[in-house]
Amino acid sequence: MMEETNKAEEKSLNFIEEIIEEDLKSGKHQSVLTRFPPEPNGYLHIGHAKSICLNFGLAIKYGGSTNLRFDDTNPVTEDTEYVDSIKDDVRWLGFNWKNELYASDYFEQLFGFAQELIKKGLAYVDDSSSEEIAKEKGSPTQPGTRNRFADRSLEENLQLFDEMRAGKYRDGEKVLRAKIDMASPNMHLRDPLLYRIKHAHHHRTGDKWCIYPMYDFAHGQSDALENITHSICTLEFIPHRPLYDWCIEKLALFPSHQYEFARLNLTYTVMSKRKLLQLVNEKYVHGWDDPRMPTITGMRRRGYTSDSIRQFCERIGVAKRDNLIDVSLLEFCVREHLNKIAQRRMVVFDPVKLVLTNYPADQVEMVSSENNPEDPAGGHREIPFTRELYIERDDFMENAPKKYFRLTPGAKVRLKSAYIVECTGAIKDENGIITEIHCEYLPQSKSGADTSGLKPQGTLHWVSCKHAVDSEVRIYDRLFKVEDVGNAEGDFKDHINTDSLHVISKAYAEPALAESTADASYQFIRKGYFCIDKESTAEKMVFNRTVTLKDTWAKDKKK
Ligand code: ATP
Ligand code: MG
Repeated sequence: MMEETNKAEEKSLNFIEEIIEEDLKSGKHQSVLTRFPPEPNGYLHIGHAKSICLNFGLAIKYGGSTNLRFDDTNPVTEDTEYVDSIKDDVRWLGFNWKNELYASDYFEQLFGFAQELIKKGLAYVDDSSSEEIAKEKGSPTQPGTRNRFADRSLEENLQLFDEMRAGKYRDGEKVLRAKIDMASPNMHLRDPLLYRIKHAHHHRTGDKWCIYPMYDFAHGQSDALENITHSICTLEFIPHRPLYDWCIEKLALFPSHQYEFARLNLTYTVMSKRKLLQLVNEKYVHGWDDPRMPTITGMRRRGYTSDSIRQFCERIGVAKRDNLIDVSLLEFCVREHLNKIAQRRMVVFDPVKLVLTNYPADQVEMVSSENNPEDPAGGHREIPFTRELYIERDDFMENAPKKYFRLTPGAKVRLKSAYIVECTGAIKDENGIITEIHCEYLPQSKSGADTSGLKPQGTLHWVSCKHAVDSEVRIYDRLFKVEDVGNAEGDFKDHINTDSLHVISKAYAEPALAESTADASYQFIRKGYFCIDKESTAEKMVFNRTVTLKDTWAKDKKK
C-alpha cells in the first residue's frame, strides 16, 4: 500500500521542481545552483534536514550543485563550534557541497554595496534610537513617517557610514537604512535597517568590523554574488522578498530569485534553535546531542540512520502551507529501515534466573542464531547456552490466565534458537519474590529439529548467566506532553514531559554485543531497535532505544 502511494508521488513534481524545469526549458538558467544557508548559532535540527534534503536534492536531480553558506552576520550568538557541527551533520546526512562559504567573506563587498546605495540616494545614516525608529515606522494600517536624518547629503552619509565602520560610535548610536517607502503596506519596505553597530568579536573576522549587515542586506546579495539560481527558504520570508528583489535591482546584481516553502513542524517537539538552546542551557536535556533532542546530532546518537531521515523528508514532500507532521511518520521511516539492516540480539531488561534442572552443570553449548531474517547475507552468530539463564521477570507467571503464552508451571516455551523447556516451578524468597524459575529442557527439541507435537506456547529471549554482559538501557519518550507545542498555551517549557528518560541499569546482554561497533543498529528481540551509546565502557555497555518495534504509542495514547 505504502509502496503504491509512493510510486504515485514520484511521478508528480513539487512546485519548486516545476519552476526549475520551466527555467531550464526557457533558457533562463543553464544549470541549477542552490545553497543551504545556516546561521551558526546552534546545532541543526530535523527542520534543517528538510531544507538540506530539498536544496541538495534539487541540485542532484537537475545536475547542479549546492553551496554551504554560513549566514554569520550576528557575531554575538555565533561560534565555530556550531560551524563544525553543521558541516558534520550535512556530511552525515549524505551530501557534499560545492563551496564552503561565509556571508562574512563578503563583508567588504557588502560595505561597497551599501556605499553604492548611499551614492544613489537610496540609503542614509539615521541617528534615531531603536524606539524612535519603531515608533516612526507606523503600523500595518498606519503609514510611517520619515525623520529629518533621511535628508542628509550624500557626502555626509558617506562620511558617517565610514565613521561607523571606523568605530567612532557606540552600539545603537547610528544605523544605516535603505530609503524606500515609509507608507508601503509592506513593513519591510519602510526604510529597513541595512547595517547596525556592534562592537563584538566575530568568530571569523575577529575585531576587524564593528558594523554588521542585517540579514536582509546580506542574504540576497550573497546569493547574487554566488550566482544562486534558486534561493529556497521558508514561508516567513515571503514579506522579505520585495526587499530581496529591491536590493538586487538597485545594485544591478545577478538576478537570484527567492522561493518559499512551508517549514517542517513536528508533533511533540520544538524546532527553534533559541528554544533548543534553552533546553540545553537550563539542563532539561543533557546537551545538544541528547537522544531526545530533535537535532541531527541527537537523532544520530539515538540511532536514527541518515537513510531514514532522507526518506522521511522525501515522504513529507514540499508544502506551500504550514503544517504539523506527526512524529510517528518519522518513527515509521526509521523502523522500516532498521528492520532491514538491524542485527538481531538478545538482551534481558528485568532479569530473573531460569535454571534448567536436567541440564549438565558445567556444560556450555553454542547455539546458532541468524543475525537478520530480513537479510539473506546477514549470516549467523554463535550464542553460549548453559544451565543457568536470565529471562525477563514478566515472562513467568505463577497463576497465569488462559491466553498467557509464556512460562507458568506445566507450560512449554521455546528459548530462542535453543531448546524447548517445560516449567516445573519457582523458588521465592521470604518476601514472596521469585528468585529462580525451574524448568526441564527437552534434549530432542534443539532449534531446527522436528518438534511437531511439542507445541510450545511462545518464544522467549534469554542470556546465559555466566556470559551475560552488564548493560544499561536508556528508554526515551516524547520530550513534550502536548502535540502542538508551538501553539500550546503558556510557555513551551510548561509542557515538557519530565518523565522522558527511563534508565534500566541492570540489564544483561548476550556476549556478541560486547564486541559491537559504535555505528551498528540492533533489534533487541521482542524489545525494539537500539544502538550503542558513546558512554559505554569496558565495564558496562550503554544502549539507547531508537524506536519501539511497533507503533505502540498511538495505542497507549487512546487508553
Ligand atoms: P530556527 O528558527 O530553528 O532557529 P532558522 O531559520 O533561524 O531556524 P537558519 O540557520 O537560519 O535557522 O536556517 C537555515 C535554513 O534552514 C534556512 O533556509 C531556513 O529557512 C531552513 N529551516 C530552518 N528551520 C526549518 C524548518 N523547520 N523546516 C524547514 N526548513 C527550515
Ligand atoms: Mg534564521
